[in-house]
Amino acid sequence: MKTTAIVLAAGQGKRMGSDVAKQFLLLDEKPVLYYSLKNFEESSVDEIILVTGEDMREYCKEHIVEKYHFKKVKKIVTGGKERYHSVACGLFATDTDCDYVFIHDGARPFATSSIIERGMEAVQKYKACVIGMPVKDTIKISDADGFGVSTPKRSQVWMIQTPQIFEFQLIKDAYEKLLQNEEQLIKDGIAVTDDAMVAELFTDQKVKFVEGSYQNIKLTTPEDLEIAQLFLRQEKVSTK
Ligand code: C5P
Repeated sequence: MKTTAIVLAAGQGKRMGSDVAKQFLLLDEKPVLYYSLKNFEESSVDEIILVTGEDMREYCKEHIVEKYHFKKVKKIVTGGKERYHSVACGLFATDTDCDYVFIHDGARPFATSSIIERGMEAVQKYKACVIGMPVKDTIKISDADGFGVSTPKRSQVWMIQTPQIFEFQLIKDAYEKLLQNEEQLIKDGIAVTDDAMVAELFTDQKVKFVEGSYQNIKLTTPEDLEIAQLFLRQEKVSTK
């Protein structure tokens, strides 16, 4: 069985309001992406493909992959305009003998080895699974004018994280279909924000939800960086 992790680091991170994209901001003097790659380097995943901006490939090679001796990173490829373009670039760069693929946000530094192993177990059983957590707050659906329309049953609402893990050929075929239908989706106002959505839209495969952790946050806005610093400090204390 061969498994590959596609780690995404080609986003601009505009919501962070910083010149540096969120996956390259420093957490304890190391880029956020270092932690995301380290988690996979130390897992049972066989290979890593890093997807980043054309202008960041050399930086990633020299200052992250070589500097920290990430031996599993086999390729550093250029991503695209939207997250789903970057995922497609990663999938097309993956060797065809791959059985399962983990798709992971480089801006999510706390996907621990137990989360990765839970995903590994689940994908062999369910073919498609995503890491997530049940929501704590009540979630409501609004109309276009910001008025409440409905309240889904809280026990069945999850916030979805990454990694998202799939049989390789299943998700590659789904992404090929997505790219063929991209124009229509844009016309219909459908924004593709995760990989499970691509499986939902273009396959008959059900996607299983697997528990991650409330610490497995994606760094998006400036306060997330402070929270991440706190989690990192706690981690250090608990491993002392
Ligand atoms: O923008 P969003 O928060 O969805 O980004 C999630 C992850 O996807 C980040 O790690 C980001 O670097 C990556 N991404 C990418 N290519 C894009 C947009 C986002 O690799 N065009």
